[in-house]
Amino acid sequence: MTRVLFWLALAVLVYFAIRSKLKQSQRRQQPPPQPPQPSSSVRQVAPPEAMLCCAQCGVYFPASENVPANGRDYCSPAHAPLK
Ligand SMILES: [Zn+2]
Repeated sequence: MTRVLFWLALAVLVYFAIRSKLKQSQRRQQPPPQPPQPSSSVRQVAPPEAMLCCAQCGVYFPASENVPANGRDYCSPAHAPLK
């Protein structure tokens, strides 16, 4: 009985070995997967926005958060000079 089990296990091992070899050769024949399109990856990230430098603290911040005062750009109303 153990002999039958041994040969059965061997057959299963050979079967899986051949299957993995076939998969490897198929992968070699196929062209390498194309990298994702840059536009699709950019879509997931927020669109690039112009950055401005605060005249008070020097930190860079998005242009949408700009607080212009006296012709200069500030990161927040607290850094903009009082009028
Ligand atoms: Zn600032």
